[in-house]
Amino acid sequence: MKDFKLLIGGKLVAGASTLDVINPATEEVIAKCPRADLKQLNEAVAAAKAAFASWSKTSVAERQRLLNAFADGMQARHEEIARQLTEEQGKPLPHAMGEVAGAIGMTRYFASLELSDKVLRETDDEKIVQQFMPLGVVAAITPWNFPVLLLMLKLPPALVAGNTIVAKPAPTTPLTSLIVAEIAAQVFPAGVVNVICDGNDLGGALTAHPDVAKVAFTGSTATGKKVMESVSSTLKRLTLELGGNDAAIVLDDVDPKAVAPQVFAGATMNSGQVCLAIKRLYVHESQYDAMCEELAKCANEAIVDDGMKQGTQMGPIQNKTQYEKVLGYIESARKDGKIIAGGEKPSRKGYFIPPTIVRDIADDAKLVREEQFGPVLPVLRYTDVEDAVRRANDTDYGLGGTVWSNDYNRAMDVARKIESGVVWVNKHLDLPPDMPFGGAKQSGHGTEMGREGLEEFAQSKIINVAKRSASSPAPAHH
Ligand code: NAD
Repeated sequence: MKDFKLLIGGKLVAGASTLDVINPATEEVIAKCPRADLKQLNEAVAAAKAAFASWSKTSVAERQRLLNAFADGMQARHEEIARQLTEEQGKPLPHAMGEVAGAIGMTRYFASLELSDKVLRETDDEKIVQQFMPLGVVAAITPWNFPVLLLMLKLPPALVAGNTIVAKPAPTTPLTSLIVAEIAAQVFPAGVVNVICDGNDLGGALTAHPDVAKVAFTGSTATGKKVMESVSSTLKRLTLELGGNDAAIVLDDVDPKAVAPQVFAGATMNSGQVCLAIKRLYVHESQYDAMCEELAKCANEAIVDDGMKQGTQMGPIQNKTQYEKVLGYIESARKDGKIIAGGEKPSRKGYFIPPTIVRDIADDAKLVREEQFGPVLPVLRYTDVEDAVRRANDTDYGLGGTVWSNDYNRAMDVARKIESGVVWVNKHLDLPPDMPFGGAKQSGHGTEMGREGLEEFAQSKIINVAKRSASSPAPAHH
C-alpha cells in the first residue's frame, strides 16, 4: 500500500491518526489516509499565514512560472493520478485521464492570467485605478465527485493572485489531492500550499479560523449553508459552488433518437454524480413515448462496471452513504412513477447502480424535487413549453440546464428564461476555463473560472489620484 502524507509548512508529514479509503468498485480498503487533528489544522493555517508574507510579494511572473512547473509535475504523473482517481472515486479510467487533463489545463489557464491594475478613468485632472490585492490564507474545500479538477478551480487562481492555501479534500477521495500535495511540495516555497485530510470533522474549524481570509467551497447546499454561517463571525470572503437539480427541456422539433443518447450521457456521466448533471427531463407529449423508449434503450445498453476495466461506461457510486441515498430515490420512484430501465441493484460487491429511467412521475415526487446525485432520471411530460419552463424554474436550485431544439430562436427564447448560472443549447458540460461560472439561487454564491473567478481571490481597491501636486490648492467643491 502506498504511503500518503499531509503537506504542512512544506513538509510531508503523517497525520495524527489514519482513515481507511475504500475502492467503491470492490469495497476494499486501498489506503490508510493520514488524518489531521485540530493541532495540525492550526499548524497548516499558521504555515500558510507565515508564507503569505513573502509569497504575496513575489512577482506575478514568478507565481506564473511556479504554477506552470506545478502543471508540468501533474503532467509527468498524469496516468498515476488518473489511476488513483479511478481507484478512489470509481469513474472509468478514460474519464479520470480526462479529469486530470482538465485540471492541468485549468492550472495553465490561471498561470496565464494576472490581476493587473485596471484604469477606470483618466482625465487631465485625475486618475482612478482599481488594484487587486491578495487576501491572505485561502481555505479550499472540495467534494468527492471531481476531486482533482475542483481543487484546480481554487488552488491556481488563489496562488496567482498572491494568496496561500490550505486545501481539504473530502474524506472518501483524499488520495489524489495528496499526490497533488507531493508535487506542490517540490515546486512551491514552504507553506504556500498545505493539504490536510479529515474525517468530515475539520471543515467547521477551518472555515471559522480567524487567520483564514477566504473560503472557496464546493459541495452540497446543506453544507454550504453551514459554511456561510461559519464565515460570518469574521466576515471572510466566500465562494460557494453548491448542489443543483438541473432541468433539460426538449422541444418538440427534435429527433428523439438523436437527442436521447446526448441527454442520457448528460444524466449519467460520472454515474450521475455531477453537480451540473441533467437531473430532470421535460419532454413534449408528442415525443414522450419515443424519448422514454430511446432512453431505456441507452440505459439497457450501458456498461456498468469497475472503472479500471476497459469498456466501462459507468463506474460505481462513490461511497456507501451516497449509494444508499440513491437506492432510496429508486425505491421512492418505484412508488411515484414507472421504472422502465434499471431499478434493480446488482448482486455483486461494489456500490453499483444501473442507470435507471423513470416515467409517468409527478412534479412533486421526491426524485423530481430533490438532487438525486446518481444515475436515476425522471422523465416528465409537458404540453406547453412555457409551462415546462415554469416547472423547470420551480426549485430552490439554479445551477445549470439544457435546451434541445433544431430551432435556434425557440431554443434561445427558452434558454433566456431558465433561472440558473449556465444553460447549454444542444450541448452539455462544455466548461472552458475562461467562462465564468457560478450558481443562481441556492446553488451558489460568487464565481469560479475566468477573469471574474480570479478576481474573487483578491480584494479590489480603488486608488483615486488628483493629478495636481499635493501642495497646489484644492479646487473648490460645489
Ligand atoms: P458535502 O457538502 O457533504 O462535502 C463537501 C466538502 O465539505 C467535503 O470536503 C466535506 O468534508 C466538507 N465539509 C463537511 N462538513 C463541513 C462543514 N461543516 N464545514 C465545512 N466543510 C465541511 O458534499 P459532497 O457530498 O462531498 O458533494 C456532493 C455535492 O457537491 C452535491 O450536492 C453536488 O451537486 C455538489 N457539487 C457542486 C459543484 C459545483 O460546482 N456547484 C461541483 C461538484 C459538486
